[in-house]
Amino acid sequence: MKDIPNLFGSMVFNESVMRARLPKDIYRALKKTMERGTHLELDVANVVANAMKNWAVENGATHFTHWFQPMTGTTAEKHDSFISPTGDGKVIMEFSGKELVRGEPDASSFPSGGLRATFEARGYTVWDVTSFAFIKDGTLCIPTAFCSYSGEALDKKTPLLRSMEAIDKQAIRILRLFGDTAAQRVLTTVGPEQEYFLIDKEMFLKRPDLIYTGRTLFGSRPPKGQELEDHYFGSIKPRVSAFMKELDEELWKLGVCAKTKHNEVAPAQHELAPIFATTNIATDHNQLMMELMKSIANKHGLACLLHEKPFAGVNGSGKHNNWSISTDTGVNLLEPGDTPHDNAQFLLFLVAVIKAVDDYQDVLRVSVASAANDHRLGANEAPPAIVSIFLGEELTEILEAIESGKGYKNKEKPDMEIGVSVLPHFPKDTTDRNRTSPFAFTGNKFEFRMVGSAFSIGGPNIVLNTIIAEVLRQFADSLEKSKDFKSDLAAIVKKTFSEHKRIIFNGNNYAEEWVVEAERRGLSNLKTTVDALPEFISKKSVELFAKHHVFTETEIHSRYEILMDAYCKTIHIEALTMVDMVKGEIMPACIDYQNDVIKLLERKKALGYFDSSLEEHLLNNIAKLSSCLLKKLSALESVLLESKEERDIVTHALFYRDKIFAAMLELRLAVDELETLIAKKHWPFPTYGQILYSVI
Ligand code: ADP
Ligand code: MG
Repeated sequence: MKDIPNLFGSMVFNESVMRARLPKDIYRALKKTMERGTHLELDVANVVANAMKNWAVENGATHFTHWFQPMTGTTAEKHDSFISPTGDGKVIMEFSGKELVRGEPDASSFPSGGLRATFEARGYTVWDVTSFAFIKDGTLCIPTAFCSYSGEALDKKTPLLRSMEAIDKQAIRILRLFGDTAAQRVLTTVGPEQEYFLIDKEMFLKRPDLIYTGRTLFGSRPPKGQELEDHYFGSIKPRVSAFMKELDEELWKLGVCAKTKHNEVAPAQHELAPIFATTNIATDHNQLMMELMKSIANKHGLACLLHEKPFAGVNGSGKHNNWSISTDTGVNLLEPGDTPHDNAQFLLFLVAVIKAVDDYQDVLRVSVASAANDHRLGANEAPPAIVSIFLGEELTEILEAIESGKGYKNKEKPDMEIGVSVLPHFPKDTTDRNRTSPFAFTGNKFEFRMVGSAFSIGGPNIVLNTIIAEVLRQFADSLEKSKDFKSDLAAIVKKTFSEHKRIIFNGNNYAEEWVVEAERRGLSNLKTTVDALPEFISKKSVELFAKHHVFTETEIHSRYEILMDAYCKTIHIEALTMVDMVKGEIMPACIDYQNDVIKLLERKKALGYFDSSLEEHLLNNIAKLSSCLLKKLSALESVLLESKEERDIVTHALFYRDKIFAAMLELRLAVDELETLIAKKHWPFPTYGQILYSVI
């Protein structure tokens, strides 16, 4: 048996290592910076760097890197070794405070959306002291924020930290109004449940579409998919289990609290959920989790697919972003309390979330928009593109009772008036948990389910933190002026619910009727990324982010450009991959198969066989489909040529959605039908059935 408690965090330069290895005054100075964001003096940084290097070298590290999260959605690192020549042909291992605190990677090859011209290639990485350094694969990784020479954020971490500050500031104002003087900071917490597919590496390597795009661009439905629902929570196969064990251990070494693992609905689909952490840490940890999933799968002869929709007709993968907000004194502000006072506070935070999600549904939708996630949102497996909140019957009734002033009829407490009587406890694991809702209250947290599996959770949490900070600001502005706190508070809860209850929907979000009903309620239905992204640069959005110092207007525009560009490029690469697969392998396969059949036909004729109906039937059908294939291929190639024309950014993205993607779908139809016709030995790629059931 491995000693897990000892293993846990063994590759992290965490508090206990710091306490053990740093002189007391240095430790105290660093702690102050970590907790209050005070400036870190260079002499302190020098001592910390040296201790870090000694610890890292003892644990097998030879290099260090500033580990950052550029706008690509993944992480970036450039390794430098600790070696420093001593002049006598030898080296010593060195690491300075300057190297720890700040790096200058060449930023010109990361997406910047026009923020940084290539001639001004300098970018800075700055140590994020709130996230511990760790050792990964022999390299000391220092979590850093990444910004341009002129200080604009070029990453996901900087605005996330800013959004955490924004909500901290506003939530503290609210807590003070409730007489809480103990809490010094309010932090948002996140537990992201990560879904993924595991397939055999051999299969993966035979599919150029998986290699280049992360998803299958062709593939007809297998005889058995997920209809028997026999995979969900099913027993875990030995190969998968071995992978999961190693993954858990490696994550534990890095201080990631990997907790729950199970099989998901689709064949070959699994999930891993950690215990929640502060948003910043949870984001870093989720990036590490995705990276390790890929590298450890590879070691086990497997390939891990993180794409939102690797297989058509089979459930895609999401990432449930469980979000809550709590004080540094350990109080979860979305936990209904035991006293009327606590409950009044809970209800205020609750309606703040409701109002925020309603007021800023469009920006929230933007935060989960990508070409890949478009395959999921709105399909009958994931929440629709319409943002709504599931509160559950009980909580909805309570708010309705408050709105109508009638009092809430509850078994234990007949009347419920805000701030007067006690709220019932909400069951956390009731069966009425609505799995179709994009944003569900689950007892003491909200679960945002629209996030895609490959996303950095940075983006969605930047938006959540900021929109809720904005509503808390409005509440605080008004309540700080109040002469009668209790009654003004009750009035705010009542009014807010009344004005924003349209966003609450406890029914089936997958039903057709919901789309109609949502439209009647005036809710947005931004179906695709191209519909959603322009909302990011709307006046309302720019004002929101600027007011809370999360994004400047320039930063928003740069991100908007990066996202639009990524959308078009994703589809472009997919289209080119399709063309490549069709011309390079599918057409030759058709020809080979027809050749076989024709040869047989000729021999049969020569031998005087009378009945060749099977061969003729096959040849006819293949000929028909092949000519259809050729037509669809030419159509795709010609729109691809047209895509080179100069257009404005939105027209360009619309062209990709309406022309190129549409042509891809048509081509796929032809190929998928051909697949059912061509003999398996001629078909150049593993089929859906072979891939989905490849791990035994
Ligand atoms: P499910 O039934 O959806 O798996 P769980 O209650 O097991 O729900 O929790 C799912 C995720 O929510 C876990 O990652 C868990 O750590 C996280 N979670 C629990 N409490 C909080 C909280 N206060 N803030 C953020 N995430 C939380
Ligand atoms: Mg969940």
